Amino acid sequence: VTGRLVELGQRSETVRRANLSAIVRALHVSGPLSRSELVARTGLTRSAIRDLVGDLVAMGLVTEGAAAALGTPGRPSRVVSLDTHAAVVLALEIAVDSLAAAIVGLGGEVFASTRVERPAGHDSPDAVVADLLRLVTEVRTGREDGPLIGIGVAVVGIVRRSDGVVSTAPNIGWRDAPLGERLTAALGAPVPVFVANEADLAALAEHRRGAAAAADDVIFISGEVGVGGGIIVGGAPLLGVAGYGGEVGHLPVNPEGRACRCGSIGCWETEIGEEALLVAAGYPPDGGREAVDALLREAIGGSVRARASLERLGHWLGIGLAGLVNVFNPRLIVLGGRFGRLHSFVRRTIEAELDARALAAPRALVSVVPTALGEDAPLLGAAELALEPLLADPGSVVGARSADPAQAGFR
Ligand SMILES: [Zn+2]
Repeated sequence: VTGRLVELGQRSETVRRANLSAIVRALHVSGPLSRSELVARTGLTRSAIRDLVGDLVAMGLVTEGAAAALGTPGRPSRVVSLDTHAAVVLALEIAVDSLAAAIVGLGGEVFASTRVERPAGHDSPDAVVADLLRLVTEVRTGREDGPLIGIGVAVVGIVRRSDGVVSTAPNIGWRDAPLGERLTAALGAPVPVFVANEADLAALAEHRRGAAAAADDVIFISGEVGVGGGIIVGGAPLLGVAGYGGEVGHLPVNPEGRACRCGSIGCWETEIGEEALLVAAGYPPDGGREAVDALLREAIGGSVRARASLERLGHWLGIGLAGLVNVFNPRLIVLGGRFGRLHSFVRRTIEAELDARALAAPRALVSVVPTALGEDAPLLGAAELALEPLLADPGSVVGARSADPAQAGFR
């Protein structure tokens, strides 16, 4: 009998945890909500919301404002808001040609952020960690935003999520780099460090508060030097066994094609990556953002060569996307990174290829849209990743935080 009682007790604690999580998630994604809106969002009763919000107030995570009449019948309902300073995370990004850092609070509020361009090169993980440390110092200096609960890192490579080892990052020349371990040691931070692929994190950010906020089946494709992908199925990221999943840039599409940095031949990236776009338009393959801008200006001016290169890119993008539409039946395809800026130039070609190549039923349900969060999507996703333990179990993180006041002061 005792055993059963314990089991029942654990179950009700599990339910409470899930309900607290549902409320914090709703506020995190939508901003302040009235108690009535929380009832509608969570399906919980009015009295359950009152009790749970009381718990969250006691934890210091939310505040309740005065009752506000919302133009609806019935009693005015009190407005519940997250305290964005109750917990903050550090978000870092390692892109091919830039590094970024941000301090982000609960609710996704960005308190401070900085980005430095750097030449696309093959710096060692230690050199990159040293540069990131300088950025972290810069972004934190003179700020007291709240207790730090985690660090999220977006990196342009495929990552083993369990320990933050970057298995391969062909576009920065890394292989089996223990990034999570190095960053933990270098930052001296007694909080967890979560490392993930930058396109996966951009997809997470677009899903939480960007172009894909209204969709639960999403394919995010980002084009820079490499091509990254993040796939969301039924609201959850497709990670695979270790976190390596979703690497659509390395779908083999052209057996007669060019060598890919990953070691294979004719990956999708070799047809739709920036190099292919630039070379076909007569630019140096490593021209980067400036060359892409020049190419777009040429295309607007009517250059046949620039337009043909964009047409070619749209053609290959459409071929790959048609296959992904058939496999995943997504609601939205979000074009991120530099693809976001190319969208208006290649939209018609992509749509025509989808019409021609994708199965009619899934094709009819999918829209292709540009990123809403732009270049910072991976950085914002890194923040979301670091906030996730708190969102999943608000009580545990708050408990850990108050038990260790020294946590706020990492070097
Ligand atoms: Zn490849």
